[in-house]
Amino acid sequence: MPSHDSGRPGEILLVGGGHSHVIVLRELGLRPLAGARLTIVSIAARTPYSGMLPGYVAGHYDFDQVHIDLLRLAAFAGARFVADEVIGIDRGARLAHCRSGRSLPWDLLSINVGSTPRIDLGGTGAAHVVPVKPISGFNQRWLALLQRARLLAAAGSAAAQPLTIAVVGGGAAGVELLLAMQYRLQQEFATLRADPERLRWHLLTRDADILPTHSRTVRQQFRRVLAARGVQLHLAAAVDDAGAGWLQWQGTNGAGRLAADEVVWVTRASGAPWLRDSGLAVDDDGFLCVGETLQVADEAHIFAAGDCASMIDHPREKAGVFAVRMGRPLAGNLRRAVAGGKLIHFRPQRRWLALISTGDRCAVASRGTFLAAGRWVWHWKDWIDRRFMRLFADLPGGSA
Ligand SMILES: Cc1cc2nc3c(=O)[nH]c(=O)nc-3n(C[C@H](O)[C@H](O)[C@H](O)COP(=O)(O)OP(=O)(O)OC[C@H]3O[C@@H](n4cnc5c(N)ncnc54)[C@H](O)[C@@H]3O)c2cc1C
Repeated sequence: MPSHDSGRPGEILLVGGGHSHVIVLRELGLRPLAGARLTIVSIAARTPYSGMLPGYVAGHYDFDQVHIDLLRLAAFAGARFVADEVIGIDRGARLAHCRSGRSLPWDLLSINVGSTPRIDLGGTGAAHVVPVKPISGFNQRWLALLQRARLLAAAGSAAAQPLTIAVVGGGAAGVELLLAMQYRLQQEFATLRADPERLRWHLLTRDADILPTHSRTVRQQFRRVLAARGVQLHLAAAVDDAGAGWLQWQGTNGAGRLAADEVVWVTRASGAPWLRDSGLAVDDDGFLCVGETLQVADEAHIFAAGDCASMIDHPREKAGVFAVRMGRPLAGNLRRAVAGGKLIHFRPQRRWLALISTGDRCAVASRGTFLAAGRWVWHWKDWIDRRFMRLFADLPGGSA
């Protein structure tokens, strides 16, 4: 265990209840760590599993099915759970400062706080869009939108105005979220016998195509789906301002503007500002630079995993699948660091199975040149996702 000038007992502090830390807690619960005190601090006691989030929005899962109970998991791991938001760290004093004013000590620190959507809008533009992260904030806005759509649908022809929803960001998360929202709202309209044509959908991306990190066949498949669902696609459209009920963009074909009742922001992400302010090594996007041991560059006592970490020698896109894969090596290295052992090296896979749902209980699977689509793919994805969630619901020795 790293010694600390104060001589206090070994403190391991996990910051953020992300996909890597839930695996760490499970691992440390299965094989308890001797000689150290474990604390996890996270904003909320329920942490969302991103793979099932679009399914929640589409109405296929309820809130509990897509959230992991950190309180219960922490108890399983013998860890203290603190509900708070870390807003800065003092590396010299080895303290993490929280929004509530409290400070948490650490001898070993591990950071798994995800990413923050980058909203590069001038003036007050950012106040008029709904960022998808933090998910808890997005969920509140989504529930409000759902209610608004229901009222509009229930008003029937007395309120014939359309409801226009724009999603900014053409990556997998943006496309998947739009299709999930559309499916759900159309179901609500159908239930209330309202005309779904009153729902209008726009997807905007600054890139020349949607899903730029996916294969050509995946892109074609989703362009077809979006066209069939009546989604207006705005490619090479860089949104640069938004206000109450509108947004505007600059594009290769000139500037554009559209009226939108809700603008959901799912663009390229960056690291939380406090990571940069901490003086730790960060890349151009503000993500912590980590080596194969998952230690932050030049920091023996600070680890990072998931979206907030960029592996210096193995750059990968931001995806929950990598955050999950980092969990076990991270747990192993925290254990070795406490015991003073040699750390192991982790190399993320180069090719991975991407499973993107189309909202309607169908999904597209791709890996390299392999592509499969349909209802059975959704059932396969559903099986994988439920199996993952059971890891935290069916804890050995605990009741679900
Ligand atoms: C709609 C949508 C769908 C997606 N679908 C998929 C998918 O199917 N497959 C896939 O691989 N990826 C998917 N992604 C990407 C995926 O969400 C991220 O890559 C993944 O969540 C990263 O996990 P993480 O553990 O790094 O962070 P997160 O999952 O964001 O977890 C971070 C945790 O830390 C907490 N936290 C944050 N800041 C602080 C702080 N300062 N102090 C304390 N706690 C803090 C948060 O409350 C949260 O619990 C999707 C993303 C979105 C938006």
